[in-house]
Amino acid sequence: MSDDSRLPRTLARRDALRLLGAAGAVVAAAPLARAQTAAPATAAPAPMNGNGFYRQRIGDMTVTVVSDGTAALAALLPTWGANPDRQAEFAATLAEYHVAAQNTVNHFNPVLIELDGKRILLDTGRGGANGQLVTNLRRAGIEPETVNAVFITHGHGDHIGGLTTAGKPTFANAQHIMGEAEFKFWTTQATPNDAVKNNLIALKDQFKLIQPGQEIVPGLTTVATPGHTLNHLSVLARSAGQGIMILGDAGGHFLLSLKHQGAYVSFDTNGDQAAQTRQQIFERIVSENLWVSGYHFPFHAIGHLRRLGAGSFEFEPTVWNWS
Ligand SMILES: [Zn+2]
Repeated sequence: MSDDSRLPRTLARRDALRLLGAAGAVVAAAPLARAQTAAPATAAPAPMNGNGFYRQRIGDMTVTVVSDGTAALAALLPTWGANPDRQAEFAATLAEYHVAAQNTVNHFNPVLIELDGKRILLDTGRGGANGQLVTNLRRAGIEPETVNAVFITHGHGDHIGGLTTAGKPTFANAQHIMGEAEFKFWTTQATPNDAVKNNLIALKDQFKLIQPGQEIVPGLTTVATPGHTLNHLSVLARSAGQGIMILGDAGGHFLLSLKHQGAYVSFDTNGDQAAQTRQQIFERIVSENLWVSGYHFPFHAIGHLRRLGAGSFEFEPTVWNWS
C-alpha cells in the first residue's frame, strides 16, 4: 500500500535518523524545552593551538611553547653555522633539506610548564617593541600575573629582555630564578649592556640563584650546558615517567648544530665547548627518549631527536595537534 502524501516525510525522517546516528536520534526525539534545560554548563574551551602558542601534554605536565615572534635574518650563514672552514658543507645541508639560506627569520621560543598547579616560565623573549611573549601567553589563556616562577637559561638579551615591561617586573608574582655563576657574570660587568641593566640588574634583589643540577621547582632540574655562554643552564622537566629537555641555546640551529658534529654558532662564547656540550646533550636526549624544545628552533619547536649516525642527529618536530 502506498500513501503518496506520507512517503516523503517518512523518507526524510529515516534519512535524518541515519545521519544523526542512534545518539542523535534520541536528542532529535526529545522535546525542545528538555533539550535546552539539559544542556550542561561547560567551561570555555581551551584556546586552539596555533595562534602564537603550542600546547603539549607530557606526563602530568602541560608544556606550552609560547612564541616571542621572529626577527628577519638576511643570511643564515655564517651566523648559525659559523665554522669558517665548513661553510660549503653547511650550505650543502641547507640546500639538501630545502631550508632557506637567505631572507629568512630567526625564531624565539620561551616555554611555559604547568605542573602540580604551578606555572613556570623558561626564558622571557626580547621584550620591548618586538617581544610577543605576553601577547601570545594571553592568547593561550595565561595572564602574566599567574606565572609562579621564571627561570633564565642565560644572560643574552633575547632571553632576559621580557623580564621587565616599562621598568616593572612583567611577571609580578613570580619568583625569579637563575644560575648563580651566569647571573654574577652578567651583573658584574664593568659596562653592562642595556638588556642586562634593565632586566637582570633592575631585578637583582628578586633573584634566587641556584646551581647546576639543582631543582627550580619539584620536577624541573637545571642541567649544565656550557659553551654558548660559559655557565648556560638547560632544564630537564620530568613527570609520570616522561621528560623533556628544554635546551635554551644549547640547541643551537635545528639542522646544522644537530647534523654536523663540531658545528658552532656565531653567538657561542666558546664554540668548541658549545659543540661538545651539544653532542653530549643530544646523545642523552636520544638515549633517554626525552622530548626536546630548542629556543631558536622553528615554531612549534617541540618534538624528539633521532640519531643519523655517529655524532649526527636530526630534529623531528611532533605532529601538529590543534587541541
Ligand atoms: Zn638566544
